[in-house]
Amino acid sequence: MNEMRKLMLQQGALMKTTRPELPESPPPKLNDISRIQLIEIDISSARAAQNSMYLFHSLMKQLKIPLDGGTSAQNTDLSLLIDKWCAKKPDIITSLRNTFMDGGTGAQRLRHIDRNFIQPKVAKRDTDPEGAVATYDYSRLFSDTGMEFTAELLNLRELISRLPAEVKASAKYWIKRIKKKAGTELLNNLDRAMREEEEEGDGSIDMASVNTDWTDFAYMMAKAIDIKKQYDSAKEFDTNQPPKIAAHTQGQVSRPGNCTKCDGSLCPYRLSQENECDVYGNMTMSRAAELMNKIGYKYHVDKMRRNNGRQMINYPHPTSAQKEALESYERHLQAKWGRPPKAVNAHAERDDADPQQGRGKCDMLKLQKELGLN
Ligand SMILES: [Zn+2]
Repeated sequence: MNEMRKLMLQQGALMKTTRPELPESPPPKLNDISRIQLIEIDISSARAAQNSMYLFHSLMKQLKIPLDGGTSAQNTDLSLLIDKWCAKKPDIITSLRNTFMDGGTGAQRLRHIDRNFIQPKVAKRDTDPEGAVATYDYSRLFSDTGMEFTAELLNLRELISRLPAEVKASAKYWIKRIKKKAGTELLNNLDRAMREEEEEGDGSIDMASVNTDWTDFAYMMAKAIDIKKQYDSAKEFDTNQPPKIAAHTQGQVSRPGNCTKCDGSLCPYRLSQENECDVYGNMTMSRAAELMNKIGYKYHVDKMRRNNGRQMINYPHPTSAQKEALESYERHLQAKWGRPPKAVNAHAERDDADPQQGRGKCDMLKLQKELGLN
């Protein structure tokens, strides 16, 4: 294979050239369009029809064929492409043939298809957008996996997008409404998914963005649905398990990949049973120091220990960077949940009790005794 041909193939040229040996091949001839692969028109629904039109326009742009005012060669190409696009739809072809016979420009034919086959679908669909939204069955959103939720949410968003401007409302309004329909159990899982996101995410998603941004909401809600699914299927194996999800107790099912004891995503026990669990095992000074650098996860560990009556961890004195990070995380949690974070409060209380720098290990032990934690 010569280099030129290889290069052209690499570039994925739409039209095959028949004379690759020419060092400077002329621009592909426009009547090579018979070789162009195009997806046939789909008018099975308003959305499919609109998408088909969109893709056709985009292909014309790619081929540099103007929809109006092109040269006569371009016009012929446009007509040919339209025929090819509609070839498997006898109704459309018949209608084009009866209307234009051999005449009519490509642009006129395209308009004819739009007016007679696409717009009527759209108009029919759009007769009662308020009604469509009012009778929307929200349970469809939550009936399957996270992926199904994301797909169904797009359907709902499309319904919403067709509402008249006066009643369209904001994403915030609709997200709130969907959350109300989600049910307590799923909302608990959304909280859970948010905590997981705090521990592992890149920080770009927070509760404020989930409440106002469709994309963030779809992402986190899909996660919550999948977490719920995992729990539901795990529960089937253990019928003695009380149907509680939010409660953290030893032996509680954990999220896949997490520690089976404490459900921590970074717990060493999840890698090997020979490692100590951060919540139920013995905490070493060096591990406590490590936790100071994993603030979201530290929050999980502190909370689990607190909830399960485990001794609170005797953390080394934070470096100023760690202290800053802890404080910023607490502010972040407070802003996110709209209330002071409980588990991190344990830390805050200790700070309040000893606001001075230089709090030592002995102070900590004393304080833990005072708090009844020791
Ligand atoms: Zn663990």
